[in-house]
Parts: sequence; C-alpha cells; structure tokens
Amino acid sequence: MVNACVFCKISKGEIQAELIYSDELVFVVRDINPKSPVHLLVLPREHLTEISSSKSEQYDLFARMFYAANAAAQKVKINNSGYRLVVNQGPDSGQEIAHIHMHVLGGTRLGNMV
Ligand code: AMP
Repeated sequence: MVNACVFCKISKGEIQAELIYSDELVFVVRDINPKSPVHLLVLPREHLTEISSSKSEQYDLFARMFYAANAAAQKVKINNSGYRLVVNQGPDSGQEIAHIHMHVLGGTRLGNMV
C-alpha cells in the first residue's frame, strides 16, 4: 500500500467512490471522469504499479480482475449489450495512475479502436 496512491486511498475508504463489486483481492468502482455512459475501474487491493513489472504469482489476481469486470458489468446491466476492457500500460498508453487497473467501458456503441 502506498500512502499517496489515490486507488489505495479508495481501497482504505479515505476517498469516496461508488462501489460496484468487492472481494478480498479486487474491487470495482465508477470512474470519476467517465469516458462512456458506463465507465468502471477494476482495482487490485494490492498496490501493483504496472503490468510490465508483474510476476507469475499474480496470474490468479489478473484472472480475478476479469471475473470482477464481468460481475460488475452484470450488476450495472451492460453484460448483454457488451463492454470493452482496457488496461493502460506505460507512457505511450496515457496511463495516469501507477496502480494497475482495468477500465470497463460500455452503455453505448463504442467506436472501433482495434
Ligand atoms: P489511466 O489513464 O488508465 O491511469 O486511468 C486512470 C483513471 O482513474 C482515469 O479514467 C480517471 O478518471 C480515474 N480516476 C482518477 N481519480 C479517481 C477517483 N478518485 N475515483 C474514481 N476514478 C478516478
């Protein structure tokens, strides 16, 4: 846990966020600056900075992030209409916060990116 990390502060309850899903490894909140009608963030409770420094021991955690993304999508009712999962990694991606997170974007027909 890192004191200055905004996502660690949300995990500790020091910053408020709308909680959509929670378990012992990950939690899901609404993004404060949504880029689509539904924009959620899947966040590991552990402070891991980026995918590029991840380790094989974290594979189960990453699988849980996918599970949590879909559980949250079901909760906010976009699992049938569809959604996009995005993980920004490093400067060229525009990653702003050095705490691994997965974006869940949906609630409208998204433009093609890839
Ligand atoms: P990234 O560019 O992939 O690092 O994405 C960081 C995301 O965190 C952005 O979409 C921000 O809008 C979002 N964000 C920053 N602060 C908060 C907060 N306090 N609560 C919810 N989302 C946040």
